[in-house]
Amino acid sequence: MGIKVTLLPGDGIGPEVAMAMKKCVDATGVAIDWEEITVGAAVIPTEGTPLPQAAIDSIRKNKVAIKGPIETPIGKGFRSVNVQLRQELDLFACVRPAKFIPGTRAVNEKVDIMIFRENTEDLYAGVEFDLYSEEAKKLIGMINSLSKKQVREDSAISIKPISVFASERIIRHAFEYAVKNGRKKVSLVHKANIMKFTDGLFLRTGQKIAEEYAGKVAFEDVIVDNMCMQLVQKPELYDVLVLPNLYGDIVSDLCAGLVGGLGIAPGANIGVHAALFEPVHGSAPKYAGKNKVNPTATILSAVMMLRHLGEGAAATRLEKAVCDVIKEGQRVTYDLKEDRNDPTAVGTQEMAEAICKKLR
Ligand code: NAD
Repeated sequence: MGIKVTLLPGDGIGPEVAMAMKKCVDATGVAIDWEEITVGAAVIPTEGTPLPQAAIDSIRKNKVAIKGPIETPIGKGFRSVNVQLRQELDLFACVRPAKFIPGTRAVNEKVDIMIFRENTEDLYAGVEFDLYSEEAKKLIGMINSLSKKQVREDSAISIKPISVFASERIIRHAFEYAVKNGRKKVSLVHKANIMKFTDGLFLRTGQKIAEEYAGKVAFEDVIVDNMCMQLVQKPELYDVLVLPNLYGDIVSDLCAGLVGGLGIAPGANIGVHAALFEPVHGSAPKYAGKNKVNPTATILSAVMMLRHLGEGAAATRLEKAVCDVIKEGQRVTYDLKEDRNDPTAVGTQEMAEAICKKLR
């Protein structure tokens, strides 16, 4: 019997990249029993939700899952399935490596950064009050009576909770990773000069935890706007980053851009009881069903999953196969070609097959 893994192919380009990933993982020889569950736009008419309970139950049972992207309608409709999964399963650490792979269209070759983004709170907590709602009116009244600063009545409100508990566990997770993987420095990213209480709490928690690791891992704090500029100009100065949710989301896309775009950026959401692996990119609806997009991000997410499952040797073989195919530059998707209209670019499944061939 193989290892049970929940597979949520997602929607848009999700099913294509998931199929490519599955082929590659199976080609490593690691026996996986995929428990595939359809989520996203396709199940809304029958299930009334893009995230059926069966998907959550399956992840809870198997403890390990991998998913393709799922569309989130902007400003209306359903809550983001991705945010919901992270919160329901308490997947508190979003882990995103950004590392240069030779052969990619990287902006900078000196990038080798591991990003730890807090995944459960901050402005993503989902505590929001709409314009002119009864709740918003009450809240604005209360704030205006409590604070010297006044909030306009025609405001919508999003709340930014940052707790000691959530800050401690993500920051400790980043330090532990640094120690186990021989990383030299943790940089904590914040805007505590403006948000003295929320980001200030995150910063002070980091400074306290850093003392426990003194002599083993260096520590610094960097203001988020400065960090964005530094990352563009001198990414080689950075090693492990730890950030609250919103800055983590933005900075990890910036780092993905530095190493050649969303097509190659993998990710993981780690909790105490479950782990969910997924590419950083979204469902890219304009490419859905076209067998065009790059499967690398999802395959490298599977590499992270194999390591998590204790299949380190297979993970390293699969990673090498991906890097070899990219370095050769022949059987790769359009985004990895110098000219995006290069007619020699191959499709999603053909690139996956080239990777499988290296594993045989
Ligand atoms: P996106 O990542 O889907 O696409 C942006 C652009 O990036 C694409 O147009 C394409 O040019 C490029 N791209 C993305 N994936 C690629 C790949 N594998 N290969 C080559 N190029 C690729 O971002 P978006 O357009 O902002 O979002 C589309 C939908 O996806 C939205 O509904 C959004 O909410 C959702 N989304 C989901 C997740 C997730 O499931 N974790 C993450 C981000 C966005």
